[in-house]
Amino acid sequence: MKLQIQNNFTTELPADRNQTNVPRQVHQSAFSFVVPKKPSNPSLIHASTNVANAIGLSQEDILSTDFLNTFSGSTIYPGTKPYAMPYAGHQFGNWAGQLGDGRAINLTEVVHENKSYTLQLKGAGPTPYSRTADGFAVLRSSIREHLCAEAMHYLGVPTTRSLSLMLSGDQVLRDVLYNGNPAYEKGAIVCRVAPSFIRFGSFELFASREDHVNLKLLTDFTIKHHFPHIQKEGVEKYLAFFHEVTQTTLDMIVHWQRVGFVHGVMNTDNMSIHGITIDYGPYGWLEDYNTGWTPNTTDNQHKRYRFGNQPEIALWNLYQLANALYPLINDAKPLEAILEAYSTNYEKEYLNMMRDKLGFQIKKEQDVVLIQSLTQLLEKVETDMTIFFRNLSNVTKDDAVIIAFNTIKDAFYNEKDLDETILKDWHVWFEKYSIRINEETLSDSERKNQMNTVNPKYVLRNYMAQLSIDDADKGDYSLLNELFEMLKNPYDEQPNFQKWFAKRPDWARDKVGCSMLSCSS
Ligand code: AMP
Ligand code: MG
Repeated sequence: MKLQIQNNFTTELPADRNQTNVPRQVHQSAFSFVVPKKPSNPSLIHASTNVANAIGLSQEDILSTDFLNTFSGSTIYPGTKPYAMPYAGHQFGNWAGQLGDGRAINLTEVVHENKSYTLQLKGAGPTPYSRTADGFAVLRSSIREHLCAEAMHYLGVPTTRSLSLMLSGDQVLRDVLYNGNPAYEKGAIVCRVAPSFIRFGSFELFASREDHVNLKLLTDFTIKHHFPHIQKEGVEKYLAFFHEVTQTTLDMIVHWQRVGFVHGVMNTDNMSIHGITIDYGPYGWLEDYNTGWTPNTTDNQHKRYRFGNQPEIALWNLYQLANALYPLINDAKPLEAILEAYSTNYEKEYLNMMRDKLGFQIKKEQDVVLIQSLTQLLEKVETDMTIFFRNLSNVTKDDAVIIAFNTIKDAFYNEKDLDETILKDWHVWFEKYSIRINEETLSDSERKNQMNTVNPKYVLRNYMAQLSIDDADKGDYSLLNELFEMLKNPYDEQPNFQKWFAKRPDWARDKVGCSMLSCSS
């Protein structure tokens, strides 16, 4: 197995001079060298061939002992020196101080075909940032991360990738519901891959300590290596950088809203500087369209990170990043202007994304109202988001209202919920929709094809991940493999996977792991 190693981060930024691996506050450092804990009996459960290829590895490499040893943290790849990164963050709206890679260890950067990647093990043991926790991860949450990161990639949503999923062979103690019932679970390690793992919180840490020297070093490093097209200097450079982070973050959120993804823990330490989805914890997929939904039981009371609030929270997080970068800019006005543009831009992009979902190529002013009335209707009774939009593409220009309505009827969880008023509202909506698609120039089949490129047929429904976890716990990975294969082509019909194009079964409605998840992982 041959990787092309690069060590920009550790050669250009200041290292923590203390090399003891005990939880502590780390100052004036961008990283701490740390060695992964040797797993007692590592084994490979699954690897993403596509990610392996991207970093220059073959199928043969995946099956090698080198691969097993390197990506389980068993041995250190020659020429590399693993490290963990400090960062801070706002958790659930409150300042949390120093956090950092408590159970993530960066192995190295690699270069392949002129692209650079950082490879990071999650669950490979304690670091100086582990605080009171153990540094490990369990199989359950690692399967969720591995499957979902790759599913998101294939859906076209910007995300960190997942190279591999391994069992460590060790047991890890977790209290899933935080109710005093800890139990041992299988330990696992995922290797995540991203351009870098620099987060909003990385900048917040230095800013909060008024360490402007390292704030500048980190920002300059980030721009030089990850935003090389920014050719400006001084304040203009930092503003261009912030502007771009705002834009890519916004784009990512529009994608989340398009596919019905709820991140669950949008703390500023979980926001990538690249505008890619990071940290798959208690995330979930909307089944019934409900803007108030969050899968995260820890957020049950305020539902800060509910589906409908994600665009607003991203902006809140960007304000924190702006505050952190402020010492490099010393002028609030241009930062505020960028932040203020976010809302207008979001409205615009959201509208266009919804037009795509509805099959509108032509932009009409009245689309705003049509979309608003649709999202209101979708919330009236339990309606499956994925099935609704996918089936909507089967409506034709000549369909009578009742035929059109019947096309999407499968999306309702309980048809009995549809009282007379709601039925009437739906009929009114479909009348308007019919007029609207008749204004389009594309034929029915062309429109359908177009819509099917943005409305996935298959998403990683919460209960599906849970079923594969239950099997994997017993050592059966066939369902995990099946889901992985299916999610590679989420927009294709894939008749052999038709059974997964279905509403959430009733047993999964209020089940832990399916509709309710805690941060315990
Ligand atoms: P999260 O909510 O997963 O984004 O984690 C918040 C912080 O807690 C981060 O600094 C993590 O590295 C840390 N953390 C979470 N789980 C563990 C664990 N099992 N061991 C050590 N640190 C952890
Ligand atoms: Mg995190």
